[in-house]
Amino acid sequence: EPPAEKYEYQAEVSRLMDLIVHSLYSNKEVFLRELISNASDALDKLRFLSVTDAQLLKEAVDLDIRIQADKENGIVTITDTGIGMTKQELVDCLGTIAQSGTAKFLKALKDSQEAGADSSNLIGQFGVGFYSAFLVSDRVVVSTKSPKSDKQYVWEGEANAGSYTIREETDPDKLLPRGTRITLYLKHDDKDFAHPERIQKLVKNYSQFVSFPIHTWQEKGFTKEIEVDEDPTEAKKDGEEGSSVEKKKKTKKVIEKYWDWELANETQPIWLRNPKDVSTEEYNEFYKKTFNEYLDPLASSHFNTEGEVEFRSILFVPATASDGKEDISNPKTKNIRLYVKRIFISDDFDGELFPRYLSFVRGVVDSNDLPLNVSREILQESRIVHIMRKRLVRKAFDMILGISLSENRDGYDRFWENFGKYLKLGCIDDHSNHKRIAPLLRFFSSQSDKELISLDEYVDNMKPEQKDIFYIAADSLTSASNTPFLEKLVQKDIEVLFLIDPIDEVAVANLKSYKEKNFVDISKEDLDLGDKDEEKEQEMKQEFGQTCDWIKKKLGEKVASVQISNRLSTSPCVLVTGKFGWSANMERLMKAQTL
Ligand code: ADP
Ligand code: MG
Repeated sequence: EPPAEKYEYQAEVSRLMDLIVHSLYSNKEVFLRELISNASDALDKLRFLSVTDAQLLKEAVDLDIRIQADKENGIVTITDTGIGMTKQELVDCLGTIAQSGTAKFLKALKDSQEAGADSSNLIGQFGVGFYSAFLVSDRVVVSTKSPKSDKQYVWEGEANAGSYTIREETDPDKLLPRGTRITLYLKHDDKDFAHPERIQKLVKNYSQFVSFPIHTWQEKGFTKEIEVDEDPTEAKKDGEEGSSVEKKKKTKKVIEKYWDWELANETQPIWLRNPKDVSTEEYNEFYKKTFNEYLDPLASSHFNTEGEVEFRSILFVPATASDGKEDISNPKTKNIRLYVKRIFISDDFDGELFPRYLSFVRGVVDSNDLPLNVSREILQESRIVHIMRKRLVRKAFDMILGISLSENRDGYDRFWENFGKYLKLGCIDDHSNHKRIAPLLRFFSSQSDKELISLDEYVDNMKPEQKDIFYIAADSLTSASNTPFLEKLVQKDIEVLFLIDPIDEVAVANLKSYKEKNFVDISKEDLDLGDKDEEKEQEMKQEFGQTCDWIKKKLGEKVASVQISNRLSTSPCVLVTGKFGWSANMERLMKAQTL
């Protein structure tokens, strides 16, 4: 037998293992979910690669997952027929972690615990799920056969150890056709997990959305009738004493015990079901399990499209903007899982299916019309994808509109806080959807008392003679509400939107109008409040013309002109921007280079 080679874990891994074991001790059972999810990933990879390389499936075994629990010895084994690992992959995948994620993981862990949320989903998010095996095990043995290698290798590690070993599998009884078998030698206090019924329950609870069959090894029984000799003492009681030696036969029911595999999950993907038959709880569970989230989504939308292009999809709006994904100019999201005819293709194609400003939307998309070997290039060229994209975007907007129309205003407030800036980006990026985006926007206003209002609310509150939607851009609510430009409008009880997010002004400039009413900056010259009194203006000009000339002379090049205005009520003068220039706010932003 070839000797086992010893390897040290990367230092990060040891620290993470420690962290996981200490932070999740009250949630140990997640180990099973994580190992099943890895098995399912391995099967997905195999199925995907086999589309272009049929050789990979030459070992004609089913694509499935089998879990066996040995009560007597406290052992659980999880076997899949997926892609397996080569020796090098064992070292790379189970001894190192790709990202230097300890600090990030710690922070996320703290945040989620403070939020009182279930932090166990974080291990999946951070790509450290495998190590959860040590939550319940003293020793973990991974025996694995990759189609890329003709040898099978065994990785073996112990809890609280800084190293692991790898050796070749030589026991012929343990050879696999393909895939991976993970054997867990449970800790003394965790041996309960080795009960077949317990395993079955956990699978049903945690892994009902896995799309490969999961079989568990279960003890079963059936009743059968057997013939037995009648008890001679009973026969005597029957008063047949002294009669012949003839024995009486009698039938008796007994339970015959045997062991067999039992299917534990439903393998039909949730998106193939009729939306009428799926409950909100099921959507929420699916979302949390698929995207490793610990909060329910704010909204979901499940739909099938038929006709020109056929696809099914479930979209979700997350409850929060995820950590590290705030950089909206460069989203790297893995938010949309693309399937072709139920086969998982990639979660890297979001950009092709959604515009970047909708990159926060999550979901699954399953198409029957795309080729299985679809690539980014194919997606970019495809007319089908073009149509899909349009429909997906429309559905996403419907879903967001749904949140905004709901009775419960909190939901949309939360949405807006997390994703409002994405929609503002949409005003700039996607002119074709202005009609859908504009009703979703929210702003503070001179009359809203620190509450956000919609443009519809603004329009409803317009004065009969008012033609435009007025706004002022400023760096804070305080400076917006103190600006002298407001005076006249406040006096006339006209509402003014306060644009205090740097991107607001650009977004509004791109929209230009809403319901045929133009957006008008009240800090610009020529503000028309619909109350011009030509005669009076003439009079004023006569009276103060010389004063204006004198001021202009004093200020020289610093101002373009000095004019009489009717827009102030208590302040003596105000500096305004020319009709075609940058607003003062914009100029400040340009200087600060925040845009
Ligand atoms: P993640 O699944 O997020 O990548 P894990 O810690 O759960 O992180 O797993 C680490 C890696 O180990 C996986 O990415 C995969 O490459 C490999 N791996 C784990 N389990 C299996 C398995 N059953 N079959 C093949 N590869 C596996
Ligand atoms: Mg995993």
